[in-house]
Amino acid sequence: MKTKKHTKVMRYEIIKPLDSTWEVFGQVLRQVQYETRHALNKSIQLSWEWQGFSAEYKRQSDHYPNLKEITNYTNLQGYAYNTLKHEFPSLYRGNFSQTVKRATDKWNSDRGEILRGERSIPNFKKDIPIDVVAAAFKEGKEQNLRIRKILSSEEYNNETGKRIQGYTVKVNLISDSYKKELGRNSTAFEMLIKVGDNTQKAIIERLIEGKYNIAASQILYQKGKGSGKKGKWFLNLSYSFEKEDVTLNPDLIMGIDMGIVHPIYIAFSDSYARYHINKGEINRFRNQIEKRKKELLHQGTYCGEGRKGHGIQARIKPIEVISDKIANFRKLCNHRYSKFVVDIAVKHGCGTIQMEDLQGISKDDVFYKNWSYFDLQEKIAYKAKESGIKVIKVNPRYTSQRCSQCGNIDSENRVNQADFLCTACGFKALADYNAARNISTRNIEKIIDKAVGKEIIDVVDLEYGNIS
Ligand SMILES: [Zn+2]
Repeated sequence: MKTKKHTKVMRYEIIKPLDSTWEVFGQVLRQVQYETRHALNKSIQLSWEWQGFSAEYKRQSDHYPNLKEITNYTNLQGYAYNTLKHEFPSLYRGNFSQTVKRATDKWNSDRGEILRGERSIPNFKKDIPIDVVAAAFKEGKEQNLRIRKILSSEEYNNETGKRIQGYTVKVNLISDSYKKELGRNSTAFEMLIKVGDNTQKAIIERLIEGKYNIAASQILYQKGKGSGKKGKWFLNLSYSFEKEDVTLNPDLIMGIDMGIVHPIYIAFSDSYARYHINKGEINRFRNQIEKRKKELLHQGTYCGEGRKGHGIQARIKPIEVISDKIANFRKLCNHRYSKFVVDIAVKHGCGTIQMEDLQGISKDDVFYKNWSYFDLQEKIAYKAKESGIKVIKVNPRYTSQRCSQCGNIDSENRVNQADFLCTACGFKALADYNAARNISTRNIEKIIDKAVGKEIIDVVDLEYGNIS
């Protein structure tokens, strides 16, 4: 199976340094941040100067200069690194190298727009993140960024004498000379990080187990919100992992039925797998809102000075707020549902999604009143497209009356809203599942047209409005 490399970032708060005080550590971080910022700006400046030289050279000799011939370096990164390496005495070499890379990468990606005058030259401001490289800087050396777990029985804090428990990150931050200046034994600092939730924990555990790899990361400062609030330092931990690269097969079709019993029911053309979304959540929310609406209307009639004092406008407002709430909730739900749907399609390798063409259905229909199905469909179509999945809208005629097992179409097939029972073969299933299976069938419209005959369709088409 082919795999693809994914890189992601998770942010962890730095609780405290373990081999230093906050006073020293904070000072080190600020110094490193200061030099990192200037290293970034200097690298950009060098790139810009090379650009100017290059253009001038072209004017005089009719061809561009060769970086290697002139500077002895094959790329801007190497050139900038070697030109600037003595100017930043506090930085750990590996991190400095990563910082230079960050600047020259930025330069290379922005260069075209800068030269066309569409973008200004990058200028790195205060509070920029500090680069911490993950790999060993020199071959044979220990990994630069290391994570470990401390059990409560293992270690004590030198200062407080209290037990330390949790996850730590140890990373080289400073140069040898800065180390000596500080009277330290190591260029590395070890810090306790806050692992707040299960996702954060799972990532750390996988990194320790070696299932994930640590990638070049960053330490950053975030100002405290509100006056007098102290800022905090965070680690933006980058990690990479291999994931199966699912290839989508256009012949595998996922069918989506949107119904009253289940807002969404999913079936597949090639298997009996099924998924659905329950209505409970939507109903609970709707009931809550209805109740609140009634209360507010009641208040509007009877409340004294407060709200009434401001006239009719003031009285209407809270109900409008409620309407906004409903709209927001629908948006949020539809966003979540559409992601759920498309994720499943990708997981199953479906290159095609078929769903009902709701064009013929009136907006006064129960369908529409109950939930914004059109909006949901749009969101699904949009996300599917992003994932490279084709979306086909199919006419839903007879998809609830047709037996997905034997193809028998009979209005007697449906026992009730929820259950389906075939009069020909005895196939029994949830009505929504049966419909979803039909919708997942390749060329379902043609199959149904053929089965019922075109003339009949037009007659029954009129009746369709009554059925749903
Ligand atoms: Zn049947």
